[in-house]
Amino acid sequence: MLQNIRVVLVNTSHPGNIGGAARAMKNMGLSRLVLVQPRDFPSEQASARASGADDLLAGAEVVDSLEAALVGCTLVLGTSARDRSLPWPMLDPRECGVKAVEHARGGEQIALVFGREHAGLTNDELQRCHFHVHIPSNPDFSSLNLAAAVQVLAYEARSAWLAVQDGARVEVGEASEPLATMDEMERFYDHLEQTLVQIGFLDPAKPKHLMARLRRLYGRSAVNHSEMSILRGILTETQKVARGEPHKRKD
Ligand code: SAH
Repeated sequence: MLQNIRVVLVNTSHPGNIGGAARAMKNMGLSRLVLVQPRDFPSEQASARASGADDLLAGAEVVDSLEAALVGCTLVLGTSARDRSLPWPMLDPRECGVKAVEHARGGEQIALVFGREHAGLTNDELQRCHFHVHIPSNPDFSSLNLAAAVQVLAYEARSAWLAVQDGARVEVGEASEPLATMDEMERFYDHLEQTLVQIGFLDPAKPKHLMARLRRLYGRSAVNHSEMSILRGILTETQKVARGEPHKRKD
């Protein structure tokens, strides 16, 4: 079950942190590590810091975009050491663990996403996440070391998983139908953006965070497969009307 929770490290500079993250994961029973354009990997420093978690490093997937790292995921939890311009649904580490386990139990794929050592995640990357997770650290010194941050969230995921093993109840969502995956959502956002430009609702010269706000709205909605088909169908018909082509209602 914990294997459904992947850890995604974006543009990590120091290979030692990749090794440290792998060790933290293996200690807590997580196994799937995805690296988005790491600066230096594979590396001896990574293996040295992993001390015994080399199997996770050997199995790590290296991809060239966050989008590729999130393929198949229905829940994406992005970490942030500080507040961002557009407020987003927030979780603390405990809530993050519970939510991740709740979804992972239903067979869904979940991603915990961590940013660059010096700059964290970009706004664009954070807007691809359903929730932001902040570790409530000292406000005067809020940034944890990357591998330490992975340790905190991996521990909370394990704790939530252990609570379920003990028979404690963790709310299971009504997800009788599978949720749309991140790749489906990305295709939808592209389609939505094109359509909004086409009908003149979105001015590409003055986007005013519209797409980010819409991502936040749809991200909150837990859209499932059949709902996604409806949304895509609406966009397709809207585009036909905008182009003056024949569409469903013929009168
Ligand atoms: N200077 C960066 C900090 C990056 S720390 C910034 O201001 O964003 C590297 C990564 O560790 C972050 O991207 C995040 O994934 C994780 N991290 C560090 N401290 C954290 C905290 N307090 N809460 C959540 N994640 C944190």
